[in-house]
Amino acid sequence: MTIPAELDRHIDEIITHYPPDKKRAAVLWLCHLLQDHFGCLGEEQVKWMAAKLDLQPINVWEVVTFYPMFTQKPRGKFHIKVCRTLPCDLSGCGGLLGHLRKKLGVELEQTTADGLFTISTVECLALCGSGPAMMINDETFERVTPEKLDTILDRIRTTGKIDAQSLPAPLAPHPLEKRVLLANLTKPGYTGSIADYEQAGGYTALRKALGLKPEEIINEVKNSEIRGRGGAGFPCGMKWSFLAKGTGKPVYLICNADESEPGTFKDRQIMQYDPHLLIEGIIISCYAVGAKVAYIYIRGEMPQGAKILLNAIEEARAKGYVGKGIEIYVHRGAGAYICGEETGLIESLEGKRAYPRIKPPFPAVVGLFGCPTVVNNVETLANVPLILKNGAAWFKSMGMPGSTGTKILGVSGPVVRPGYYEFEMGKLTMRQLIFDVCGGLKDGKTLKGVIPGGSSMPVLKADQIDVALDFESLRKAGTMAGSGGVIVLDDSVDIVEATLNLAQFYAHESCGQCTPCREGTLWMEKMLHRMHAGHGRPQDVDMLYEVADNIDGKTICPLGEAAAWPVKAFVTKYRGEFEGTCKKNGGGHGH
Ligand code: SF4
Repeated sequence: MTIPAELDRHIDEIITHYPPDKKRAAVLWLCHLLQDHFGCLGEEQVKWMAAKLDLQPINVWEVVTFYPMFTQKPRGKFHIKVCRTLPCDLSGCGGLLGHLRKKLGVELEQTTADGLFTISTVECLALCGSGPAMMINDETFERVTPEKLDTILDRIRTTGKIDAQSLPAPLAPHPLEKRVLLANLTKPGYTGSIADYEQAGGYTALRKALGLKPEEIINEVKNSEIRGRGGAGFPCGMKWSFLAKGTGKPVYLICNADESEPGTFKDRQIMQYDPHLLIEGIIISCYAVGAKVAYIYIRGEMPQGAKILLNAIEEARAKGYVGKGIEIYVHRGAGAYICGEETGLIESLEGKRAYPRIKPPFPAVVGLFGCPTVVNNVETLANVPLILKNGAAWFKSMGMPGSTGTKILGVSGPVVRPGYYEFEMGKLTMRQLIFDVCGGLKDGKTLKGVIPGGSSMPVLKADQIDVALDFESLRKAGTMAGSGGVIVLDDSVDIVEATLNLAQFYAHESCGQCTPCREGTLWMEKMLHRMHAGHGRPQDVDMLYEVADNIDGKTICPLGEAAAWPVKAFVTKYRGEFEGTCKKNGGGHGH
């Protein structure tokens, strides 16, 4: 096996992004680069990587076999991945996949006879507002129709290559929006370059921060009362102040950019349209918590986002913002939702399978490479420059007590105007969001329900949508704000099928460490399949709820709850539909 000198140099450079005795952390990058070059990862590639990183081959195999983006079998020159999760399903990905199979004459994971195309499904591409979505190699495609797909395939056959896709124009703001984080996006001619960002007042917060003591910055962030925007809503300033002090070990900051929960596509907008807002936030946060190195862990299915960030970091380096005391590296994931859980992410960043850790100890004490670590979401970190520039009082003047500031929401499903929107927290109800901002349901349909914060959050029924969109109001309504991914369901949605779709996602993404999650997610999927396929038995409805209940609260990490909550909520709120499926099918054969 021969590695071109240029690739070898690139690999050596990437290895320097990690501490000399932690070279293993580079393994995901190496797997991506070698797979891109050789087409797959076999014995030779694994042995070569192991030698390069001072590992045993088994340490590389455990990574290759865990992450869905890696393959041991050669694929076609063009790997087509169609998103199959709920938001894309609601916009017709099933029909698209059927068309693709027919057109290419192959089934999933098969390659066309000419070696050109392999087709697969993928678990969420974070393009939920513009589905059906698909990726071909590193390019993403939105709102794909069968006709558009035919044109793309014909062009590939003619040219032998895939055209680079440009970003869609940013969405214009709705009058009910309060754009603060997304304020730059629609400025005339704004490109997200460092020149444009500085012209818009960017990096002034950093200059201000450097004139303050780190504790003063932490206090300002604490006083803003900003809560984490990743899903759990933990107060950011408090998280920072938990960092173990005086350990003599380095402190790390990790930006969690592994946005991969179906329905969630907000961080993508910041990274691709205004990357310097995130980079400035990371630098200020590093200075505040005493971190000299930050890693942006970006999900593997966002190669364009990774490229944009890498380019922005180089722009910031050229201006002296990065590289003089604080270094930022981009770390690419490889397609596992569990990497969004902070300790799973840390394990993955260390070059291992993303098995979440039992807490305590929390990452603030024992995090990356055994050192104190802060893990913050993209949207949280992007707020930091705004808080520093305008002050905590300004931030708190937006939103409401307990839910300060703004929040970016992504709306998907059959509404007239799906997309991403930014609002003051608590100033808008779900009804206003769906009917005023998003224009209501398409095709004269009526509302059946809405999942308010990413696919793991309990569904709200159509008569529960007068709830304000803030942490507390949604909690009182029996659900959570979560990650801000709003999935709308109309009256044509088969609830059993929708629940099955989500159950498939969680069964696929369970890391397998805990028995209730590993077994329970598979059982839920199996039972829902049975119901949906016409073999449901009347007792299945209670049994399904019971299986979900036996996962809830009994696992190492929150993926267990993420899998159980939607099932419990769907069964409770739409019980008649589950029962109807079982009765309708006469309690047939129980497989
Ligand atoms: Fe893994 Fe599921 Fe347990 Fe989380 S809850 S550690 S995903 S098995």
